[in-house]
Amino acid sequence: MVKAVVGANWGDEGKGKITDMLAEQADIVIRFQGGANAGHTIINNYGKFALHTLPSGVFYNHTTSIIGNGVALNIPLLFEEIKSITDRNVPMPKLLVSDRAQMVMPYHILLDQYEEERLGGKSFGSTKSGIAPFYSDKYAKIGFQVSELFDEELLKEKTARICELKNVLFEHLYHKPPISQEELLTTLHSYREMVEPYVCNVSAYLDQAMKDGKTILLEGQLGTLKDPDHGIYPMVTSSSTLAAFGAIGAGIPPYEIKQIVTVCKAYSSAVGAGAFVSEIFGDEANELRTRGGDGGEFGATTGRPRRMGWFDCVASKYGCRLQGTTDVAFTVLDVLGYLDEIPVCVGYEIDGEVTTEFPVTYKLEKAKPVYEKLPGWKCDIRGIKNYEDLPENCRAYIEFIEKQIGFPITMVSNGPGRGDIIYRTSAGK
Ligand code: GDP
Repeated sequence: MVKAVVGANWGDEGKGKITDMLAEQADIVIRFQGGANAGHTIINNYGKFALHTLPSGVFYNHTTSIIGNGVALNIPLLFEEIKSITDRNVPMPKLLVSDRAQMVMPYHILLDQYEEERLGGKSFGSTKSGIAPFYSDKYAKIGFQVSELFDEELLKEKTARICELKNVLFEHLYHKPPISQEELLTTLHSYREMVEPYVCNVSAYLDQAMKDGKTILLEGQLGTLKDPDHGIYPMVTSSSTLAAFGAIGAGIPPYEIKQIVTVCKAYSSAVGAGAFVSEIFGDEANELRTRGGDGGEFGATTGRPRRMGWFDCVASKYGCRLQGTTDVAFTVLDVLGYLDEIPVCVGYEIDGEVTTEFPVTYKLEKAKPVYEKLPGWKCDIRGIKNYEDLPENCRAYIEFIEKQIGFPITMVSNGPGRGDIIYRTSAGK
């Protein structure tokens, strides 16, 4: 049985918590896209952790954690991350790395930094982790697969070619020092040493696991609106954030993905540039930012303050549809308990017309939010275990949003911990 946990929006919806929670019933958790550029925050019996590359199943003894072929793998960062959790008494995870995963190279990170510098104010708000140059090279067919670390001849030949190519940019476009082939080879040898014990033919491993009836969780990074095809291009990430891509980025048949849990946060937040229709500013935003998530809405990787907004039904309906949602996990609802009334964006006004269909980017830039205000519940809902015990206005908020987005909210998260979850059997009724 394969399940996916993915985001409906701009990321930071709370996928880490939901994955960590669902991983209790899983044998394998696999990352299938993205790199160390975004993070998941997880709180469990070992403490509070920010994960960037490791799947959110690493905290259980019974799960195998896999880095799939679709991931942008930064090898030194992966091992630093493992150390950062084992230093805090988490047992060494059972880890497998796909032999077909490609590696983020030091020059990808440099290129990312130099390009952001060159673009100045017109930048894409990159986290400068080398992700965009990495995926560009992958699709330009000049990337390095983990498997290639074990072919010395090929490494020599490829590194010579890559230095020649990249140094044109370093010297003539960015006016920076060139990279040396020798240094690159030494780096790759060190990567080989680190990763060797974990390298695996992951698609074959998963094929067997499925035959053995194992439960596999695909863990997405970011959300629909950051997808390079279906998101707010060009303010997107460089790999597909959709559950469908889980099949490709893990190496399994698409029809094996039986459950798609799309995570939606009870309000909106975004990082980086790009249109954000229900964005709020000033004190209103500050208050939500400070109260939001667990300890405030600040980037798990960068510490950047997140942009804040009200729940956006247009974006979330679209976000859930593109994911192929079977279940919505509605998160961070507890945070809204301070509000007298809660605005919800139910439509976009574009050139004088109201629509509930999420538009292409140039039209999105012109969209103005149409709000409906719902009454708040004015109390703390943490600790509540049964749906029926939630305040009436709180249930009304959930059910209103469920109706607007058209997908069943089967889980409601009312706190950051593993146990802060309300299962809802009457969802969608
Ligand atoms: P991800 O990238 O989608 O995994 O999301 P993040 O880790 O960036 O963001 C979620 C933040 O909200 C983290 O700080 C979580 O600990 C926290 N969080 C998750 N679910 C809940 C919830 O139901 N209530 C509260 N208060 N915080 C939550």
